[in-house]
Amino acid sequence: MSKKALICGISGQDGAYLAKLLINKNYEVYGTSRDAQMSSLKNLEYLGIRDKVQCFSMSLTDFRSVLQVLDQVQADEVYNLAGQSSVGLSFDQPVETLESITIGTLNLLESIRFIGKLTKLYNAGSSECFGDTHGLPADEQTPFRPRSPYAVAKSAAFWEVANYREAYNLFCCSGILFNHESPLRPQRFVTQKIIAAACRIANGSKEKLMLGNINIERDWGYAPDYVEAMYLMLQQDMPGDFVIATGKTISLSDFISEAFSAVGLHWQDHVVSDASLCRPTDISVSRANPSKAREKLGWVASRNIQETIKIMVAAMQQKISLN
Ligand code: NDP
Repeated sequence: MSKKALICGISGQDGAYLAKLLINKNYEVYGTSRDAQMSSLKNLEYLGIRDKVQCFSMSLTDFRSVLQVLDQVQADEVYNLAGQSSVGLSFDQPVETLESITIGTLNLLESIRFIGKLTKLYNAGSSECFGDTHGLPADEQTPFRPRSPYAVAKSAAFWEVANYREAYNLFCCSGILFNHESPLRPQRFVTQKIIAAACRIANGSKEKLMLGNINIERDWGYAPDYVEAMYLMLQQDMPGDFVIATGKTISLSDFISEAFSAVGLHWQDHVVSDASLCRPTDISVSRANPSKAREKLGWVASRNIQETIKIMVAAMQQKISLN
């Protein structure tokens, strides 16, 4: 009999790629969106799997709604990928961010505990929890020093999961994922904003791309690789938390340079750094040590960020040519 998976936040980048991965592994895949009737689910259409997924409306902050869907689906594996996911937006919507992530995760844990089935839970943690490690690579032992409402919320959710694992013996774990990108990344994220602007300018737009601090450094990977790591975490004998990253860090200005040169442009002619766009607090350098994932999950990133940028540029150019 095939396994059942419930993906909370299936309309997002990771939700769509994870759905595709699990369908290919013969899972029955169910998904949730805050309003499944209104949600466009265009990412599922883009991947050609819209008709292979059954979607429910579920609000993570509403316990009754969470319990109802979990009880109806009776999933073997639940993936919590929903919640306010933008660091920048979290400074403007701190309450929404805190509630959707911390109450949302708690409602899932409580529902699983209440139903009493041996459901496994994957929780989307974040490298933002580490804050500034001053150039040191973060691993599973590195303390959290969050520097945004988003990171505070993700840190609290991480400890909720760890506590329920210890207190109630639930099979639940957090992936501490570093940034991962793809053609499905929404345009409010800086990486896709850069790709979109580079492609528009290459197609004749005279605009300038305004960005905040372009000296930040991040470990960026390819989203389809990262959903494989989520799946692997739930296939282990014992639940545990894992850092997932490429292990390679580059600066945002190098990212911009790669994106513009992929369309034959010099980024310095088109990009303006505007201090008013900087965040109140930010992480200057983000570095990762994903060796536990390599050793225990057998997981390594298959693509580096240079290859990912080329994939994102090609997808954006195709999108522009179809419009
Ligand atoms: P997306 O933003 O693409 O998707 C998240 C989904 O959550 C949305 O599709 C939306 O679904 C739902 N959502 C958005 N805002 C809220 C809200 N305020 N309350 C409840 N639900 C909301 O995120 P990704 O797929 O990129 O990321 C998946 C998870 O992994 C997120 O939790 C993110 O924080 C985390 N993460 C992502 C990283 C990355 O680099 N991509 C890195 C580390 C962690 P709908 O509108 O259908 O309800």
